Amino acid sequence: MANLSPRPASTAGMYDRVSRVIPAIEWPVFEPDIAAILALKRARNAVILAHNYQTPEIFHCVADIVGDSLALAREAMRVDADVIVLAGVHFMAETAKLLNPDMTVLIPDPAAGCSLAESITPADVRRLRDLHPGVPIVTYVNTSAAVKAESDICCTSGNARAIVESLGVPRVIMLPDEYLARNIARETAVDIITWNGTCEVHARFTAADIRQLRADHPGVVVLAHPECPPDVVLAADFAGSTAAMSDYVRDRQPARVVLVTECSMSDNVAVQHPNVDFIRPCNLCPHMKRITLGNIRAALEENRYEVTIDAAVAARARRAVERMLAV
Ligand code: SF4
Repeated sequence: MANLSPRPASTAGMYDRVSRVIPAIEWPVFEPDIAAILALKRARNAVILAHNYQTPEIFHCVADIVGDSLALAREAMRVDADVIVLAGVHFMAETAKLLNPDMTVLIPDPAAGCSLAESITPADVRRLRDLHPGVPIVTYVNTSAAVKAESDICCTSGNARAIVESLGVPRVIMLPDEYLARNIARETAVDIITWNGTCEVHARFTAADIRQLRADHPGVVVLAHPECPPDVVLAADFAGSTAAMSDYVRDRQPARVVLVTECSMSDNVAVQHPNVDFIRPCNLCPHMKRITLGNIRAALEENRYEVTIDAAVAARARRAVERMLAV
């Protein structure tokens, strides 16, 4: 789910809100870029969409809309703006462009990739289709537009089971995340053929890590992302998308919690829940961390880097995304 941030118009009073997660010594470094970005947004009628894994100075200080990748794109469809700056990785910017073809979509660093998106090519998808004739292909949104274009329908970590079951078939191909597919396979009677992609951030967590966290922090509630290996998900108290984890903390207010996911997620949720103690095992996504205040500012100043998608590919990819949205 996407959340509207407070849409700050100036940096006045801003630091108080983020002081729990941004050291005072760093604020004078961030503040000039934040002020410049706020002014550029107004001048260019631009909105900034920031993923839950962006750092707090982006997430809380310049973003207009925050959330997971799909929520960001959906919310952007309701925004009245000329320019979208996607503070996230490349496939997210492509999805925003797919759903908002008339807007200028900028990504501050075009090299911000994703190990899942890079694990599979359109030719791989065509080979899978030849290998399993008639079996529908369900593709995680963490893929390129070209891979989505070869697919029947998309899914997110939050709706994957519902999408798989909506097809009314005994067997599907689900790609590219092997762990997400195996975690969903445990919950459904539908037979799932997997691909061997993994998220390099979530794949690093182990069940032994979870046991150690519980030993070190008695009573801690463990929330895991379904891109984690199945034994990690089984060892957790709850598994869900970044949006579901955020909602869990908001609704249940656990005294002490660990979010088994990318580092910045805990910082961003912690700002909103000062009474919850966050334990932070930290796996950084190097791709997400390519986005900085400096390159967001440059994106708006220099109109770079614009995301474009071949029209034929975009039409087919959009169909797979829209089929998902219709479920
Ligand atoms: S956290 Fe994992 S899935 Fe998300 S962008 Fe980074 S590598 Fe890709």
